[in-house]
Amino acid sequence: MLKCTFCGRRAAYNRRYAGVLLCDRCLIKSVEKRFRRAIAEHKLLLPGERVAVAVSGGKDSVAAMHLLVEYCRLKNCELVTITIDEGIKGYRDQSIGVARDNAKSLGIEHFVVSFKRIFGATLDQMARRARARKTELNPCTYCGVMRRSLLNQAARELEADKLVTAHNLDDEVQAIMLNYVRADFSRLHRLGPAYSPREGFVPRIKPLREIPEKEVALYALLRGLEVHLAVCPYVGGIHTEIRDFLNLLEANHPNSKFMILRMFDRLKPQLARIVPEFEMRRCKSCGEPTSAIICKSCELLKGLGLRRLRKTLISPKSS
Ligand SMILES: [Zn+2]
Ligand SMILES: [Zn+2]
Repeated sequence: MLKCTFCGRRAAYNRRYAGVLLCDRCLIKSVEKRFRRAIAEHKLLLPGERVAVAVSGGKDSVAAMHLLVEYCRLKNCELVTITIDEGIKGYRDQSIGVARDNAKSLGIEHFVVSFKRIFGATLDQMARRARARKTELNPCTYCGVMRRSLLNQAARELEADKLVTAHNLDDEVQAIMLNYVRADFSRLHRLGPAYSPREGFVPRIKPLREIPEKEVALYALLRGLEVHLAVCPYVGGIHTEIRDFLNLLEANHPNSKFMILRMFDRLKPQLARIVPEFEMRRCKSCGEPTSAIICKSCELLKGLGLRRLRKTLISPKSS
């Protein structure tokens, strides 16, 4: 029997990048410790703040929600949850129920904001329109831009001081690599434990950023959390290729993911110095903050022959 390096109980996980074995209890303790350390080290949350957490129902966001409940109780923070319903048949419809159940069992207010209600079309319908119009863009582009924008707006309407997203180490390193490959400088410099923004934006924080995906999954499993395990049907292309490449790298050279993250974090202050300043305005169409005349969401909708139906997201009845 392989034993936990720390306590001698039966090992449940081989943390190769650190050269240690962990039992179930020590793994849970370690994840909780890293979560609290990330918050303290980067001052992600302050006592008494109102915190919105984006919950899809997947393992990462459900784990984040449970970790936050305990943290918020200690620090006197208030917690609300937001789920974006993009309208992905057979995928999101199931995960919303999981998000709702978790919120209910923890006694946290839960809000659902749907693409269909706000934009007049589900992501599935947008994907069909994009194909019919032969645009170069794939569904992940629409989803990424629109979801980010709705999450920010919902958090702002709910008067949250911070918006938590459940990006783990793997997500963050994939994003770093993707922006390198695409030479997307402005997206690259927005990555990090916290994105502190300008007027109209709720600061986004990522307390799971230094926890590998496997460890978040194991944490959820060992704590017996109810999670939605399916993979989004639209995932593919370069995202998958970069993920597979990073996993291969990590398998052959343990600790590579952390090294990429550390390198990026050291470079980031330098990046900030050379990012061009731009003026913040309000989108002419929807009123959301943007550097252009029309925000990216509205521009994408226009390209699909759609337009936004509602400006306000959170009505008293949408919880
Ligand atoms: Zn142990
Ligand atoms: Zn707009």
